[in-house]
Amino acid sequence: MAQATQLPLPRGPLATHGDLPHYGVHIDGEHRAPVSKKYFATTQPYDGKTWAMIADAGAEDVNSAVQSAWRAGNEGPWASMSASERGRLMRKLADLVAANASWLADIERRDNGKLVTEVSGQVKYVADYLHYYAGLADKFESSVIPTDKKGVFAYTKHEPKGVVAIITPWNSPLSLTAWKLGPALAAGCTAVVKPSEFTSASMIEFAALIEAAGIPPGVVNVMTGGAKTGEALVTHDKVAHVGFTGGGEAGRKIYEMAARGLKTVTLELGGKSPNIVFDDADQEQAVKGVVAGIFAASGQTCIAGSRLLVQRSIHDAFVKRLIDFVSTAKLGDPGLEETQIGPIATPAQFDKIMSYIEIAKKEGAKCVLGGKARPDIGAGRFVEPTIFTGVDNAMRIAQEEVFGPVLSVIPFDTEEDAIRIGNDIAFGLAAGVWTTSLKRSLMMADRLKAGTIWINNYRSTSFTSPFGGYKQSGVGRESGIEAIRDYVQTKCVWISADLEVANPFGRR
Ligand code: NAD
Repeated sequence: MAQATQLPLPRGPLATHGDLPHYGVHIDGEHRAPVSKKYFATTQPYDGKTWAMIADAGAEDVNSAVQSAWRAGNEGPWASMSASERGRLMRKLADLVAANASWLADIERRDNGKLVTEVSGQVKYVADYLHYYAGLADKFESSVIPTDKKGVFAYTKHEPKGVVAIITPWNSPLSLTAWKLGPALAAGCTAVVKPSEFTSASMIEFAALIEAAGIPPGVVNVMTGGAKTGEALVTHDKVAHVGFTGGGEAGRKIYEMAARGLKTVTLELGGKSPNIVFDDADQEQAVKGVVAGIFAASGQTCIAGSRLLVQRSIHDAFVKRLIDFVSTAKLGDPGLEETQIGPIATPAQFDKIMSYIEIAKKEGAKCVLGGKARPDIGAGRFVEPTIFTGVDNAMRIAQEEVFGPVLSVIPFDTEEDAIRIGNDIAFGLAAGVWTTSLKRSLMMADRLKAGTIWINNYRSTSFTSPFGGYKQSGVGRESGIEAIRDYVQTKCVWISADLEVANPFGRR
């Protein structure tokens, strides 16, 4: 929309002290300093430089944000707005996001070190998510119940759950926010969003677009900070639902805290997904899919295809193709279009990946590519794309989420083997299958225990299609029509057409 591009954006930070911009919290439509006046640094993974300071929101800020969201959902214009009007405002927001996508993507890339090409695509897709849910707002119909009681008319209403807490990880901040905020706003909920402490700035800037779109103040508030801020949010009395994406440890804790307050949750957690290549596969395509599955975002994605199961008859040839292809990958500055593999997002994550490489070697796996850090690039937070062969599925390198560019190759003989090994894992987020047999495709899709099965493709996701995990990979589904159900509660209304109420003491 032409109008959208003319807004006075970016908002920019609250203030600049010395050379560093300071970002505040977003409450009631205002960008404010945190009550504590405390800030923490946000740094660029590529060169390790601190580029901004982020508000460390405490319980007082969280309380103000939740109260603001509660008022907006119960007393403000949002509460009485029709679903169609909510949809109209969401479409404006979507247009603003599209118009400002490259600037938002630049902030995200600066914070999480992902490739500019990937982050730009993700941010543009945020606009598509919002358009999809804007359209759904007035199409999510309730029902008239054909009840067994004579003379009464019963119907259901979908009502918003109330204030929802949205907590996201560092790898795809705005994208994973949109997965939750889209259905939440379409349902009429209000929200407090807490981005990861490593990638907060894009959400604060996004909040300015929410105001510019005309979404009333208080409908979306933003709290920045770490686990303590998140806990204050999850345990707040007025929060009805928690939409969380992140690691299993935090997910489990959030589930426990939410259960104590009888709140509902959607949890999108980690994975250790099998990417299974049969001997009848188109190997050239399969290699590209396997590489995208594990080395995109330097393996820092929940859907990483980190276990490569290859049929033994093609194992050696396929591994050779893989090594030849990956060896050409260019590591470097994620801001440059030619870079193919970027840095690791945080120092802790870098240490974790390096320790898993050592664990794999000690377990007896054979490192056939990479396996080393690259201190010579940027600030040195790079890990070479790494491939281990001779991996047994019982090894830690096959069972635990590394969240880095480390691929474990496991041979198998038969379809039954592939299914047994593929399912022999605590996670169940996704699985890939490469075969030219339709019969085998359908059979594998039926028998693999995961929320998403990709046949002859990998990493496809869409606003139209439900996404979520089996087993330890999560609770609930995001995206698609289904997702809105997590943000509504159903009310049943009974209307009697008979004005005479039966004698309560009479015979029935
Ligand atoms: P993390 O669990 O450490 O943090 C995620 C978010 O939770 C952050 O905002 C953090 O501040 C907050 N948090 C942490 N502890 C909390 C607590 N006790 N109470 C409330 N909030 C708390 O995850 P991360 O390191 O940022 O991200 C990596 C993890 O996320 C990986 O395990 C990955 O698999 C998972 N992930 C899953 C998906 C998915 O859709 N399934 C997508 C991306 C990432």
